[in-house]
Amino acid sequence: MTSDFESQLRAVSLRVTRPRLAVLAALRDNPHIDTQTVIELVRADLPAVSHQAIYDVLQALTDAGLVRRIQPAGATARYESRVGDNHHHVVCRSCGAIADVECAVGHAPCLTASVDHGFVVDEAEVVYWGTCPDCAATRTAT
Ligand SMILES: [Zn+2]
Ligand SMILES: [Zn+2]
Ligand SMILES: [Zn+2]
Repeated sequence: MTSDFESQLRAVSLRVTRPRLAVLAALRDNPHIDTQTVIELVRADLPAVSHQAIYDVLQALTDAGLVRRIQPAGATARYESRVGDNHHHVVCRSCGAIADVECAVGHAPCLTASVDHGFVVDEAEVVYWGTCPDCAATRTAT
């Protein structure tokens, strides 16, 4: 596992460091977590790593394309290590739970604009909103 992350880092010319490996591992095991959760998970293993260092790692990994940052309207930014497949997300309006939704087309932009006004369109931001099974069950019970 670790060697996978090492080769990912080397492929984008980032130095292999323990905090970078720890952030990638945390995101592999816990997709769509916010910065605070990344910090808690990484510091559980590496207590000496500062908050600022973890912010910097997230920024560097996002800039390098190893990590994807998503920010549904009204929610805090979340991070995931599943990149490069143009998948979408379904977000619960009640609790903010997020799940992956495969893109039916697979590449951006997967919706063709009815009018492009001369723009070269390279992305359509698709977010599905609804109620997750847990919140739907709670609602039915009350
Ligand atoms: Zn919910
Ligand atoms: Zn995702
Ligand atoms: Zn799509």
